[in-house]
Amino acid sequence: MRVTLLAYTPEPEKAIALAARVCYSKTPPRDISLEKARALIRELFARGHESVLEHASFAFLIEGMSRVASHQLVRHRLASYAQQSQRYVDVKHAGFVCPPSIAAHPRAKIVFDEVVDQAQKAYAELCGLGIPKEDARYVLPQGVETNLFVSLNARELLHIFRLRLCRRAQWEIREVVLQMLEAVTRVAPVIAELAGPPCKFGPCPEGEKGCGKPWGKP
Ligand SMILES: Cc1cc2nc3c(=O)[nH]c(=O)nc-3n(C[C@H](O)[C@H](O)[C@H](O)COP(=O)(O)OP(=O)(O)OC[C@H]3O[C@@H](n4cnc5c(N)ncnc54)[C@H](O)[C@@H]3O)c2cc1C
Repeated sequence: MRVTLLAYTPEPEKAIALAARVCYSKTPPRDISLEKARALIRELFARGHESVLEHASFAFLIEGMSRVASHQLVRHRLASYAQQSQRYVDVKHAGFVCPPSIAAHPRAKIVFDEVVDQAQKAYAELCGLGIPKEDARYVLPQGVETNLFVSLNARELLHIFRLRLCRRAQWEIREVVLQMLEAVTRVAPVIAELAGPPCKFGPCPEGEKGCGKPWGKP
């Protein structure tokens, strides 16, 4: 699975800070130093004034994610998505994501590979019989790989980071979101600084369902 940050608001931290400055200035400022922008963003975030974060956006290409994880990602309604269509794209030779727990277990891996192989053969046979791709795909396991284009603003991104960087989120979406975080760290370090599950900033809200391993601890 691979995440690429394909586009983003130029100077995202400055864009957010300049938007915030408009609220408090008689004459709107045209520029701000990065240092001041970052300090202002930290202050606004601490006070819960998150709406200005909506003025910076990011667009990611995600390749080779399973349909299991993509279904979890698209539950985030404030992001915009384009996803590879199984109605139009022939997925006869598509890859399948194998969870590490299965990959590490020799017998489980054999069971997994057999089912994937059988499903791929069934899909190809159905297509060969003239069944439309949109119907043949019903035999495919959920581990089948897909590609998505996702764009969202920094406020929604932080929300997704809060939920999906938590160890209670499943390993695959957590990996996707960790790669998104790495990419954002390179272009907007202050956004990355504010990103993380609740345990990065205070007590875990999960109660007895908590993992007992706060953010940053191996
Ligand atoms: C660990 C984990 C386990 C999960 N398990 C399950 C499960 O078993 N079953 C299941 O169905 N889902 C499950 N989910 C998905 C979860 O319930 C949410 O659908 C998903 O995380 C999207 O979150 P959201 O609605 O907060 O965010 P988004 O859709 O990203 O929305 C962001 C925020 O905008 C606001 N918002 C968006 N839309 C509305 C609206 N229509 N009305 C009011 N406010 C709105 C809310 O404040 C929301 O938090 C799980 C998620 C996680 C992280």
